[in-house]
Amino acid sequence: MKKIMLVNPHPPGRHGEESISVIVQMPLNLAYIAALTPGDDWEFDVVDENLELALDDSEENITFAPPDIVAITALTYQAPRAYKIAQAAKKHGCTTIMGGIHTSVSSEEALQYADTVITGEAETVWPQVIKDFENGKLQRRYDGGLPHLSVLKRVYPDRELMRRKYGYKFSSIITTKGCPNRCDFCSVPTFQGQKFRERPYEDVLDEMAATTYKGLMFAEDNFYGHGARSAERAKNLFRGMIERDLKKDWLGFTALNISQDAEALSLMRKSGNFGFLVGIESTNPEVLKKMGKRVNLKLGATNYKDCIKKIHDAGLIVWASVVFGADGDDKDSFKKMVDFVYDCKVDILTYGLDCPFPKTPLFYRLDSEKRLFRKNFPEDWVYYETANVVHKFVDMTLDDFVDGMQYVYDHVYAGDSIRKRFRTSMQETGDPRNSMFALRVSQDWDQVFLQVLENLHKLQASGDYYKDCYAGTSKTISLPA
Ligand code: SF4
Repeated sequence: MKKIMLVNPHPPGRHGEESISVIVQMPLNLAYIAALTPGDDWEFDVVDENLELALDDSEENITFAPPDIVAITALTYQAPRAYKIAQAAKKHGCTTIMGGIHTSVSSEEALQYADTVITGEAETVWPQVIKDFENGKLQRRYDGGLPHLSVLKRVYPDRELMRRKYGYKFSSIITTKGCPNRCDFCSVPTFQGQKFRERPYEDVLDEMAATTYKGLMFAEDNFYGHGARSAERAKNLFRGMIERDLKKDWLGFTALNISQDAEALSLMRKSGNFGFLVGIESTNPEVLKKMGKRVNLKLGATNYKDCIKKIHDAGLIVWASVVFGADGDDKDSFKKMVDFVYDCKVDILTYGLDCPFPKTPLFYRLDSEKRLFRKNFPEDWVYYETANVVHKFVDMTLDDFVDGMQYVYDHVYAGDSIRKRFRTSMQETGDPRNSMFALRVSQDWDQVFLQVLENLHKLQASGDYYKDCYAGTSKTISLPA
């Protein structure tokens, strides 16, 4: 038997969304790779570095027996670790193949470390990659493009491989991809395209029925969509979950426009939904304008309270996802956000620090304004995630920002705050299961928040924020292809 090791890299010591234990998820894209591999003469293993390390303490040796192929996925912050793993695996004669978002951002960079790179979505090209490997004709590059999601019909990710190894409690499931909007910080339109791709809902229902996973996270950024047609498709999905009595406990991401669709909310509750993550981003219309967050502008920030009440009235919890540190945020923004949480009775507040992910409009703008202070790539990619600051603020100082984040922690997370919000969730939704879910997410996010504060204090002490990375040159960053 030939062997493929599937690797999800992770910088040791980081706590991010992956630290939220109630939704700890398997790396679904690697589970797809296992399912898509043709032939019966391959065996698979997986290393998820959230749970065990792929490199020893020297970071030069792999911790597993060398397989034929090491397949590594990477988001941007994972890329430096992925490169180390690829280099260590190559020393043992393994063939290394890299995919994932960062490889699409920077395939030339990834090719310096891996034998082969896959850009775009791997579903359509992976069988060919394996055939070429078996025939000794492996190419350096493959591009999977952005296929119609009907390609996922009856190709179900090998969740059992993942569960056997690590016992993941939740899995994710793909129902849509892509977004027609262009919020400046968001990498979804860049990597999944600006066409909203909807998987046929019957295919999603078949996959739900085929998995024994009860806890499911809809993997995409918007399961509800952008118009009447996509809303009807989403409701057909929820109806199917009820009619087939699938008994899933699920959550997902969408936009606040869903609050205006009482039928959708009712069907969601009946189909097992806890509630959903919604991109609030900011309560300041000027900030929303700069970001290009059109859906929130259309609803109007002053209507957030009414939208959230409608969701609560349907028995669902509201997981507000916001951004701190965007242009237009100043030292008063933090108190305003805390006031918003209590005034609107938000069940869960999580956030990202405004991050210029490579090849997003925000990245190009901040670079053209010479405001990035982390640009020693590839090492500095590790900071390009939402728990670190990588750019200089214009409307406040770094100290204002750190004090503001501490204020949010003290008022939304510290002391009795989490329990207080749980009691409010119970009152607002009347649903103990959904309120308890919100409580557990907040308890886990507490650890993530503390890590963010630690990162910020380290940044203050290091002086890196004040470095002029553009000194001596008028040039902005030229990202590798
Ligand atoms: S933040 Fe949401 S609405 Fe904006 S581009 Fe990303 S996925 Fe689309």
